[in-house]
Amino acid sequence: MQEGVPGLAATRIRPLYTVYEKESFLYTVARGLPFLHRECPHARLDSLDFRLKEMLNRLEEERPSLKLGLLSRLAKRAKDYPRPEGSYAPCESCGLLSSSGKCSFCRLTERLSGEPLGSWVRRRIRELFSGVTV
Ligand SMILES: [Zn+2]
Repeated sequence: MQEGVPGLAATRIRPLYTVYEKESFLYTVARGLPFLHRECPHARLDSLDFRLKEMLNRLEEERPSLKLGLLSRLAKRAKDYPRPEGSYAPCESCGLLSSSGKCSFCRLTERLSGEPLGSWVRRRIRELFSGVTV
């Protein structure tokens, strides 16, 4: 859970954060929900995040539920970690909460395509999922 910012953002809850990617994928396929079937084009195989993910997946094969155990222990101690400093305001392009003038997604898409695409992507996702019941 991530605390909200009064007047700007509701408190975030992540009810599916303990669901494995594989389970989420199988559910999506079983229900016929729309999804993009490809890796993120910006994922870097040499990044620390990717290497950590691979390492955790290998450990999970040796000890099933290891990742859920780690996650559970981290969640219990989350209040002990320092919160990021700074102020937040709506992204000037898409309106999502951001710690700078534009959110990171709008900055990235603007750098790659010449225009911030946050609003377009949010509208497109709403269109794709309108009428979808789970
Ligand atoms: Zn934005």
